[in-house]
Amino acid sequence: MRRSPLVVTLAALALSACRTAPGRPATSTAQPAPAQPAPAVDPSMLDASVKPCDDFYAYACGGWLARTAIPPDKAVWSHSFSLIEERNLKYLRDIAEQDAAGRIDPADRYPAKVGDFWAACMDEEGIERRGTSDLAALWAQLDRVSDVRSLTREVAALHRVGVFPIFALESDQDAKDATQVIGVVEQGGLSLPDRDYYLNTDPRTIELQKAYREYVARMLALAGVPAERAAREAAAIYGLERSLAEAQWTRVEMRDPKRTYNRVELAGLERDAPHFPWKEYLAGLGHPGLTAFSVTTPKYLARLDELLQRTPPETWRAYLRWRLLATAAAERALPRAFSEERFAFQSKQFTGAKEQEPRWKHCVHATLGALGEALGQAYVRRYFGAEGKASTRKLVAGIEEAMARNLDAVPWMDAATRRRAQEKLARVDNKIGYPDTWRDYGALQVDRHSFLASLRAADAFEVNRDLSKIGKPLDRGEWHMVPPQVNAYYNPSMNEMVFPAGVLQPPFYTRGAPDAVNYGAIGMVVGHELTHGFDDQGRQFDARGNLVDWWTPGVGSEFDRRAACVERQYSGYVAVDDVKVDGKLTLGENIADLGGLKLAFAAYQASRVGKPPEPPVAGFTPQQAFFVGYAQAWCTAIRPELARLRARTDPHSPARWRVDGPLSDLPQFREAFSCPVSSPMVRSGGDRCEVW
Ligand SMILES: [Zn+2]
Repeated sequence: MRRSPLVVTLAALALSACRTAPGRPATSTAQPAPAQPAPAVDPSMLDASVKPCDDFYAYACGGWLARTAIPPDKAVWSHSFSLIEERNLKYLRDIAEQDAAGRIDPADRYPAKVGDFWAACMDEEGIERRGTSDLAALWAQLDRVSDVRSLTREVAALHRVGVFPIFALESDQDAKDATQVIGVVEQGGLSLPDRDYYLNTDPRTIELQKAYREYVARMLALAGVPAERAAREAAAIYGLERSLAEAQWTRVEMRDPKRTYNRVELAGLERDAPHFPWKEYLAGLGHPGLTAFSVTTPKYLARLDELLQRTPPETWRAYLRWRLLATAAAERALPRAFSEERFAFQSKQFTGAKEQEPRWKHCVHATLGALGEALGQAYVRRYFGAEGKASTRKLVAGIEEAMARNLDAVPWMDAATRRRAQEKLARVDNKIGYPDTWRDYGALQVDRHSFLASLRAADAFEVNRDLSKIGKPLDRGEWHMVPPQVNAYYNPSMNEMVFPAGVLQPPFYTRGAPDAVNYGAIGMVVGHELTHGFDDQGRQFDARGNLVDWWTPGVGSEFDRRAACVERQYSGYVAVDDVKVDGKLTLGENIADLGGLKLAFAAYQASRVGKPPEPPVAGFTPQQAFFVGYAQAWCTAIRPELARLRARTDPHSPARWRVDGPLSDLPQFREAFSCPVSSPMVRSGGDRCEVW
């Protein structure tokens, strides 16, 4: 999905896509979540040959890592995320299959649309039979590109159906006036996952660039382009994408909310890229009259303008055809030969997976992408108990109280900044489980016979919904994730934390498990999201979600000094082979992990005041069980290809460092396991980092 780059998540996105909006309240007939027999702390996952004070991740997860093989269709497998996701996939398939077969539950709101979309996706024979005819019809339109004006028309037509060549336009809250929704023009239009893949010159990347050009040529040939022309077009496409990449900012630069906020209005767009007819573009999108805009990367528009003047029409045609083809292949809306070719490239370069994901799993992701809140509402009614919502609310309150006490205690804040921080904390909004109102999908027309047509219709519906928000009052009820998603996020513009039903399940939250373990797992997730409001990015926004500096200068520099410590700490860690963790890219997440654990531990301790101590858990004291519960929720096996990709693109650190990194900074951990000061898991003196 397209989401504000400022929204920060708990983990790399696994369950794909999410689209959100108003509708009607959830019914309260939820059945209880199915009981999970897995123990809260699992001794069989440990590696007793490793000392907890030497490498806690290896200690807590070593047994599990040794016996866990990553399934062939996966690039990563985690004890928590993957288990819940696989369970959810089956639940969601059951719902969609019943809808497709007409065995609908009258309480569900859009069973026919869900069923038709699902059936179109699952109809592999039909997709083979249709061949490239759907694609060819769309390609024929793109052949009309002969100058900038006709190019603009076709770019608008593609953007309108959710394919984003050249750049992207989406709605977002105005960073400096969070009550307003504006349009944001963003750098984009690349096919490889990051600009660096076009720009780096190390041998591995040079090899990848060559493989990419060959892959594009093979895909074009599959679509009927004669081989020689396909090779020529692939080179031209690569050259154009490389020119776009050169003018893009890095992911680290894109984390800077001040730098990426450039209110320009329509007149500013016309000034920065005068050769692009913006008014015609907006009319082509079906949204003429939009005037409120910000640009994330001003120099990118300048490059675009230059390319409009010097790129021949045949290169634009080839590029637009390729973007459409690449999108449809990723969606598996074309014959098998295309998705197999794509899988071979992706697997070798980025994932290491051995097999394509089974069709049905892909179709669950696709249906969630198209009708996420329709399927999500049905999921919530069947599988998410009201109890989960109530206990999470209590937990959140406990963590927020711990943060309030912590803000009062940190020695490096002055009274003025402390007051503003408390004000921000008091205004943090929480969304738990699922939206209060559900998206209205009434206007979405699903085509049961053409999967590609259904996908484009769903994307067109979403793009229109998104752009329609520009210039209207903000809907504070909107969610940026669907309920089954095993993830969570903090959104600085809303100053809110969001916990979808998917993450409120074992092993993150286990009903009946000792409090110590639940605080270590889901409690840390809550603390992590709350700390995002005060990480290096979140701290730049005030209580109302505005990009306003509310820090007195001395306190601000002290924060920066503390953040720099975290950056140094993580920059020293190895992500995979010879690739180091990017301490700048992962800074916000690492601050959130560090703060999240501290808050969750403090909240747990506070929750026990006046109560007898909890009994030991699998031989661990409750304090130890807190840390084991935390670590085991993050046990993750990952293929080296994906580990390399993530090191470059994922703002989260690898699982091992999400455990060993923050724990080695926490005296609470050292005390729980009586670690000598000289242990690898103890950072002390000037090496020890603490932000919150
Ligand atoms: Zn996060």
